[in-house]
Amino acid sequence: MNIIDKRNSLASSSSRSYRRRSRSAIRNIAIHHSATTSGSAEAFARYHVNQLGWPGIGYHYVVDRDGSISLCHDLEVVSYHVGNSNSFVVGICMVGDFRTQSLPDAQRQSVINLTRSLMRDLNIPVDNVWGHIEFPGYSWKPCPSISMQSFRNWLREDGAELTGRPAPTATYVAGARQRNILNRGDQGDDIRALQERLDELGFLPGPIDGIYGPQTADAVMRFQRAASITVDGIVGPQTRAALRDFEPTGEQPEHGSPTDEPDHREEMYRSETRRMLRLISPMMRGADVQEVQQKVGAATDGIFGPETQERVREFQRREGISVDGIVGPQTWRALDRARSTGVGYQRLLSVQTPYLRGQDVQRVQRALNLTGDGIYGPQTERAVRNFQRSEAITVDGIVGPQTWRRLFNE
Ligand SMILES: [Zn+2]
Repeated sequence: MNIIDKRNSLASSSSRSYRRRSRSAIRNIAIHHSATTSGSAEAFARYHVNQLGWPGIGYHYVVDRDGSISLCHDLEVVSYHVGNSNSFVVGICMVGDFRTQSLPDAQRQSVINLTRSLMRDLNIPVDNVWGHIEFPGYSWKPCPSISMQSFRNWLREDGAELTGRPAPTATYVAGARQRNILNRGDQGDDIRALQERLDELGFLPGPIDGIYGPQTADAVMRFQRAASITVDGIVGPQTRAALRDFEPTGEQPEHGSPTDEPDHREEMYRSETRRMLRLISPMMRGADVQEVQQKVGAATDGIFGPETQERVREFQRREGISVDGIVGPQTWRALDRARSTGVGYQRLLSVQTPYLRGQDVQRVQRALNLTGDGIYGPQTERAVRNFQRSEAITVDGIVGPQTWRRLFNE
């Protein structure tokens, strides 16, 4: 592995410096893409320091498209890349925009090797290697725009396929035949190009079959709503222009944005995520209690009471670890591996308008390593499709009984 040490050569602030931490504070590795088609540690450092006013570059490592690796900070440096989680995370940024580009072999091999060696050195389990989007508060951010489930599988075993989103085709803009108005019932290559463009933008029109059916119309309407234009499910000149120019809202250039700086909640994130939790008087409260409750199937009121203690005991019994009803390091680790439980199969889950919400959605999301916001949107559908593909079952982005069984072995 070829690592170029740039710790002393990159742009940095003359007046500000990042905090430091002990290595034992590091719990996660974050994977980013730069969301720029080119770039370098040098360029990102200049941007972070000069434009964002940060003490230095946000990432610990940058992996170029040719596979060369730049070391930018000591691991002890608490740089900015995942907001309030910064204090316990190491950041690796892959140069590239994986919404539109594919991951070159050399780069993929390097980032996998680097991640594996960090996992070994820092004693980080594969389940704690997360995409930026998987960190709390980032479910909106399309980073790194590759399947993290595949990425983790790839870390687990040599030689497995890393499936990202296929590189989208540019046929929509360059389309051979284009009618002026596209509407329900139309068929043809221009419909196929429309579907590909919708898919590329994350609006998931269903099968790319060149038929303007209800799913395509629904995707067009969701797109129109997002683009703040007339919502009629018909593609005319206005919608066509919007499709060409659309930039997903709320999106920042990945190679650094103010949201990656910690805010006043950082202290809470740091102290509340790994306290030892137990039944005491007065009872302990917090987001961490709620997280435990979700995973052990207790009522999620955020208060560690007798019922939570009992559910923790049951969980510990199932996991074969010491049964004391106390959530200490061993139980935390087991909880990290566990999926939230408690909700069984209830209904078909698919992208609908308005989006479906619920604990069943959240359970599916957690099983797919997504941030569990409990809303069945395009992100969730895409992850379901990837999962279905990896399981070699019907790929429709809909969680019915079969997909549910595969997800939970129920
Ligand atoms: Zn990122």
